[in-house]
Amino acid sequence: MEYQNVSRRDTHAMGQKFTLPALLTALAAAFLLSACAPAPEQQKVTSSANPDAVQAHLEFLASDLLEGRDTGERGHEIASHYIAAQYKIMGLKEAGTDGFYQRVPFRSARLADTQPTFVIATPSGEHELQYRRHFTTTASTAEEISEVNAEVVFVGYGLVSETFGINDYEGLDVENKIVIAVSGGTQGLPSEEAAHLGAQKQRQAAERGAVGFITLHTPEREAVRPFEQAVLFAGGARMRWLDTDGNAHGEDGQLRGSAYLDYRAAEPMFDGAEYTLEDIWAALEAGERPPSFALNASATMRRESIFSEIDSPNVIGMIEGSDPTLKHEYVLYTAHSDHIGLARDFSTTSKVNNGALDNAAGVAVMLETARMYAEQVAAGNGPRRSILFAAVTAEEKGLLGADYFAHNPTVPLSSIVANVNLDMPVLLYPFADVIAFGADHSSLGDVVARAAGRHNIALSPDPMPEQAIFTRSDHYTLVRQGIPAVFLMTGFTSQDEDEDGGEIWGKFFAENYHRPGDDIETLTETYGGIRYDFGALFTDINFEIGMEIANADEAPYWLSDSYFGKIFSADSSVRD
Ligand SMILES: [Zn+2]
Repeated sequence: MEYQNVSRRDTHAMGQKFTLPALLTALAAAFLLSACAPAPEQQKVTSSANPDAVQAHLEFLASDLLEGRDTGERGHEIASHYIAAQYKIMGLKEAGTDGFYQRVPFRSARLADTQPTFVIATPSGEHELQYRRHFTTTASTAEEISEVNAEVVFVGYGLVSETFGINDYEGLDVENKIVIAVSGGTQGLPSEEAAHLGAQKQRQAAERGAVGFITLHTPEREAVRPFEQAVLFAGGARMRWLDTDGNAHGEDGQLRGSAYLDYRAAEPMFDGAEYTLEDIWAALEAGERPPSFALNASATMRRESIFSEIDSPNVIGMIEGSDPTLKHEYVLYTAHSDHIGLARDFSTTSKVNNGALDNAAGVAVMLETARMYAEQVAAGNGPRRSILFAAVTAEEKGLLGADYFAHNPTVPLSSIVANVNLDMPVLLYPFADVIAFGADHSSLGDVVARAAGRHNIALSPDPMPEQAIFTRSDHYTLVRQGIPAVFLMTGFTSQDEDEDGGEIWGKFFAENYHRPGDDIETLTETYGGIRYDFGALFTDINFEIGMEIANADEAPYWLSDSYFGKIFSADSSVRD
């Protein structure tokens, strides 16, 4: 799963027990769903997953020898080689651009040793800000030397959404100006939509002709995460995939200036302006949207970045469908094969971030799923549509391998009818329910409820909507291209009455996630081991979801009340 800073409060909330009334509601909902849904076609699903296979794949991929499978590193290349070898053993067809491989070109950028500079000019004089004391910045993947001098405009939260009637740019001209916005502004909106909008702020500025983007740290934010702490995590390397012209995809190159600015250093910028910083804090405190207005200041910003270029593979295999027409359509499984490499924290004894659950487990499940399809084909019972399996790279760098595939698909994008994503199944307890991100947005919700129901597994609502997990894994890059997707997570209820699944999940997330402790030894010591039997069950469910989609007469469709269906998909694929 992609990294996000999780505050102590968040991780605590996640460890909370999933209350019984909520669980009963969920069970009732799942029951109703399956009761109302049209009877599924009778399928001859006789395959079942082999726990030993899940274990063998996971043990190989999570081995110390693979050094945490960092994008572009040897360990990830070995993992990719292993996955391609498994595809070949199973008889999958090559569906990359070079055999099973689709090599993705990347640019990695880090800040040079020369310090970034930031000078504010106002009628009262010049104010030179100090890097890491007053502001931080990140490397640019667009140009090695980024320099800008322009007037500054305050744009409130800097949010725009037609659906929610928000436009913080209303009446403002930001062409060739640097915009400054306070963080946040999506509180009160549904969390998944909020995460999507929050991530669009820079693009909104660029679309309106801005040449720089400054995020203003606030007193409110200071109380949660002090500026000093933000500084510690700033300035790491950034990565983007490169298009055929060698441009970093998704980098708004015209935003030459970029900074995270401490409010205590921002005072001069608001000299003689229509509103003071105090007015803005007062608005925030009152829960009102802050005003947007031009400032009597200009800023000069400069930073130097150092580029390096690498490539790293997606590994893509295919099972050909049996139906002469439908075989030209695809159900796409994705699981990211990369992780975060070696630990930079030298205080720990183990230096390897093994990523046993994130996401050796997901790849292991996908490989066993592929074997089950191959078994069905051999038995003359193969899927009608074709099935694609993509082990994608650079998920941990920002869903990059999947996004590259979504923009450079090896089959026509419009022929991909659905995506089933596998990322970090927490296989540490005998789960009694699953959570299906994306299930509310498309007809796939019913498919998941049926597949899980056949195994007496309930479908529960998202227990931690504040995490907006729907926008945080690879399937989201396909959702952005209008493809309905579903992503299953192990639920918070354990079949063992003596344990609390949510507590175990929360503990893993707080203590092991993205740390050297996401390895088989530590998970065995702390939680009594990985439940490969439930890994096999998780595989069965994901296999049956894909099989039902592949065999249905009709392709999945978006529900008309889905926000994501509305903004990303063609009208023809949306229904009530
Ligand atoms: Zn991760």
